[in-house]
Amino acid sequence: MKRKPRVLFAAFEAEPFMKTGGLGDVAGSLPKALKSQGYEIRLIMPKFGAIPDKYKARMKHVCDFTLDLGWRHQYCGIETLKTQGVTCYFVDNEYYFNRDKAYGYLDDGERIAFFAKAIMDCIPHIPDFSPDIIHCNDWHTALTPVYLKSKYCPEELHGVKTIFTVHNLKFQGVYSKWCVGDLLGFSEDEAGYLGLLEGDSVNYMRGAICMSDRITTVSKTYANEICGQFFGEGLDYIFNNRRDVLSGILNGIDTKRYTPQADANLYKKFTDDYFESKRANKEAFQTEMGLEVNADKPLMVIISRLTEQKGLDLVLWILGELMSQDVQLAVLGVGDKKYEDSLSSMAGFMPDKVSVSLTFSEPLSHKFYAAADMILVPSLFEPCGLTQMIAMRYGTLPVVRETGGLKDSVIPYNKYTGEGNGFTFANYNAHELLFILKDAINLYYNEPDAWKKLVENAISTDFSWDSSAEQYSALYKELL
Ligand code: ADP
Repeated sequence: MKRKPRVLFAAFEAEPFMKTGGLGDVAGSLPKALKSQGYEIRLIMPKFGAIPDKYKARMKHVCDFTLDLGWRHQYCGIETLKTQGVTCYFVDNEYYFNRDKAYGYLDDGERIAFFAKAIMDCIPHIPDFSPDIIHCNDWHTALTPVYLKSKYCPEELHGVKTIFTVHNLKFQGVYSKWCVGDLLGFSEDEAGYLGLLEGDSVNYMRGAICMSDRITTVSKTYANEICGQFFGEGLDYIFNNRRDVLSGILNGIDTKRYTPQADANLYKKFTDDYFESKRANKEAFQTEMGLEVNADKPLMVIISRLTEQKGLDLVLWILGELMSQDVQLAVLGVGDKKYEDSLSSMAGFMPDKVSVSLTFSEPLSHKFYAAADMILVPSLFEPCGLTQMIAMRYGTLPVVRETGGLKDSVIPYNKYTGEGNGFTFANYNAHELLFILKDAINLYYNEPDAWKKLVENAISTDFSWDSSAEQYSALYKELL
């Protein structure tokens, strides 16, 4: 019998082991979907100190070896466990990964170079698995396709194909040129040939874009956007050069995980009556957050990293005017201090209308999705965005800016036909956001039937991985 094609899916974070954002969602759910497309797919990620003990206790040692990185000779262990049918490998090095957070350390450049090299170096040591394709995700794995095209590539891996998926071009891994030799172990000429150099810097992501066999990003619109100067973050000319191998595939979500009828995180699991279920959850939420308890009031939420990318400047610009309407706003997020402080001070002024939770909490986020009527995602740019999709599963209407995956997943309300599953605006302009929010609030109060229809459209939109996994599968087939 012909053996199944083998894929190693590499990511720095993956649910349920570690999640800081959308990449964790995708790496936790896409491999499962690809497995059902007939691939022998395995996941590889770091063994973080913060992975819950219940998973660590189940891990088994596969192999260990010494990994060379520049002049360093470091221990590298590989542990494994199987979850939901997918075999997962964990790269073990206590010095680099036994830390509370995934990112945000001074030596991230080194930790991430170690991880990317480990993805390649571990393969000859794993007894029963040798991939045909390595699917890398974001800058944390960007050096893997580079090493595979370099003198360091083990003979066993010659001919292995690579796909590199860009989840967010804002983060590229740019470091001073000293690390070419000292850390990565290349001469300057080699680094240049491998696409790593950009002026006086080393750029990990640039290397992957030059060296990978295929490049994908997480929506069709973002794939076009990054070929232009504004969204291209300095790499647009390289994307243009490689346009023939660049494509956009919209992310899906783990629909099982986000099923309100089976969601144990909610105050009350949904019944098939979404509207009554939402009212019950909203009242419990308002009580917990100290908002006025009134299920008739429209509740808007933001569930997001609090950074410039997410359009927080627009929200802050109109916040006073927006909150003069009869609405409530609840924010869940962590990020830049200026946004945290401004939002918190608004919550201080109007505690019965605005609540701010400055934390990262998966269970709490589910309560937000379930209680809300609207979710605001007015991003400056958004490669895909998952919160608008998750929200719709809970009957919560998205209000988004037409960029990247937001444009590809939210169909704007059409007042003449009643079509749509949310509200959209085009320009990065605070008053455009305010106008669309006023329209939405007006619809909520004055046209309940039209609102109800929109919610029903949102609930029935298909955000499962089925169609996207087929597109990845087609790409894998092309490569093989
Ligand atoms: P990002 O650019 O951060 O990856 P996405 O929209 O792609 O944005 O994905 C964000 C993911 O992180 C979603 O699953 C969302 O629910 C979750 N998330 C964001 N902020 C928080 C938070 N403060 N607490 C819990 N989950 C959060």
